[in-house]
Amino acid sequence: MMKRRVVLTFPPEVVERPVISLMIRDYDVITNILRAEVTEGEVGRMLVELEGDGGNVKNGVQYLKDQGVTVEEAIKDIDLNDTICTSCGVCTAVCLTGALTVGPPDFKLTLDKDRCILCGSCVDACPFRLIKVRF
Ligand code: SF4
Ligand code: SF4
Repeated sequence: MMKRRVVLTFPPEVVERPVISLMIRDYDVITNILRAEVTEGEVGRMLVELEGDGGNVKNGVQYLKDQGVTVEEAIKDIDLNDTICTSCGVCTAVCLTGALTVGPPDFKLTLDKDRCILCGSCVDACPFRLIKVRF
């Protein structure tokens, strides 16, 4: 089994076509949508995790490209402005992967970027808007 996290960019003419559904159906690729910004008639972007047999994932990605979708490897990009973070822990409550934690010995907020899936839940949770996520 292979797992790839990629950013898909859909041009306007492709945004409304069910290319993801067809890729899942035809190439047997498990597709987990982690984040999506799609507006009707405009360019759309999606952060997805593709999982399946190596050949299937490769062929599924090629299918997307053939349909006009741009496929790029996802680059983790989360910024935490910890200069005024109070380590209140509010963001940790919504972080389901455990990437954000507050604990001993100093009870300061810690961000483990390797565990972050860029879901964005913590962005809205922080009352001071100290976290930014881009993909
Ligand atoms: S973006 Fe999601 S996974 Fe990453 S730190 Fe925030 S809540 Fe956790
Ligand atoms: S919610 Fe904001 S202030 Fe509180 S721990 Fe998280 S980043 Fe820091």
